[in-house]
Order: sequence, then structure tokens, then C-alpha cells
Amino acid sequence: MTASGKRYNVKRMLFISMILFLEAVIIYLLIILINYILTERIKQVENDTKIDKMIVEDMKYFPIPLKYQSEVTFDDTFGAYRNNGGHEGCDIMDVSNSEGRIPVISSTDGVITNIGWLYLGGYRIGITADSGIYYYYAHMSSYASGLKAGDMITAGQLIGFMGSTGEGNEGTSGRFPVHLHFGIYTAIKDGNEKAVNSYPYLKRIYLN
Ligand SMILES: [Zn+2]
Repeated sequence: MTASGKRYNVKRMLFISMILFLEAVIIYLLIILINYILTERIKQVENDTKIDKMIVEDMKYFPIPLKYQSEVTFDDTFGAYRNNGGHEGCDIMDVSNSEGRIPVISSTDGVITNIGWLYLGGYRIGITADSGIYYYYAHMSSYASGLKAGDMITAGQLIGFMGSTGEGNEGTSGRFPVHLHFGIYTAIKDGNEKAVNSYPYLKRIYLN
């Protein structure tokens, strides 16, 4: 073999080694990436399972007394289009559409963390359960008398009456049919507030 032939072979070997090395680096990085994605996914599923269990344990009552439950309807509209973004709860409709007729009871034990008027929610109450999960009741016509922020609430306790308040300044009502908007939020404390679909949890305890 000539000297130039040898040099050619050496160059070729170096080239192949470099390609192999780069391949190894790419495979290594891919493994790290896949491992990261899988670990994050598992964490997410574990967290969702934990939250699911907490909600099931928290929600002892459907937010409407049993006696009135055949007079309401509700569907899964979580994420459905609304003027102000995606729908973050479940709307429990009064079939007779009469303001202040149907009592609203707390689904869970907890403490009243928010009570008062919201531009969209109207007269609303927010109750934080011991689990840290936040339960939001909106559009009420009135509150049960004497309720204030900081009050301890027991599951099944009357908190107000179903109405159509909201979408305006304090006192606005009748801009949409009478219903209770029931929302569930997690991670309120750390500021990463996240809406959970309340429909399946309502469905579980409806009429029983
Ligand atoms: Zn709603």
C-alpha cells in the first residue's frame, strides 16, 4: 500500500469514529430526554390520581338538596366556549328558571374563603376544603343569612339560593337562565390555580 493510501485509510477511520461518537452522543441525549418526559408524565398522573381521590373524599353532597335534584339538569360543558374564555365549571340548571327557588348547599366541609360579588360570577361563595381544594359556587340570588369569610362550613349546610346574578355590576341578574355554576380549583395556595372538570364528580353523587 502506498503512503497516500495509508493516509486515506486513517482519515476514513477517523471520520467513521467521529460519526459513531456523534451517534452515541445523540442516543445518550435522546435517552435522557425520553426518561425526563416519562418521569414528568408519571408525576402528573400520580398527582391527578391524588387530586381525584381528594375531590371524591371532599364532595359528600350534590350542591342541591336531594328533594330538588329531579328539577335540575346538567351537562359536561367543561372547556366549552364562552365569551370570556373556556368554561371552567359545570352549570346546574333550574328547569323552571325561577330566581331564588332552589337551595344551594355546600358539597364539602371547609371554610369560606371568598364571599361577595364578582363581575362574571355574581353573588358567589368560595369554600376551601381541608384538602386545600377550592369549591366555587356562582350566580346565586342570595346567601344563607349570616355567612361571612372565615366561617366554617359543614357539607350539606345551606349556603344560598340558585339565581342568575353576574355578568355586570353588583345586583345584575337575568342575563342568562337561572343556574348554579359549580367549579373546582386546585393549587390555589401556590398560585398555579388550575380548574378541574367538576362534571364527573357531580354525576357520581347526583340522585344518591
Ligand atoms: Zn358556568
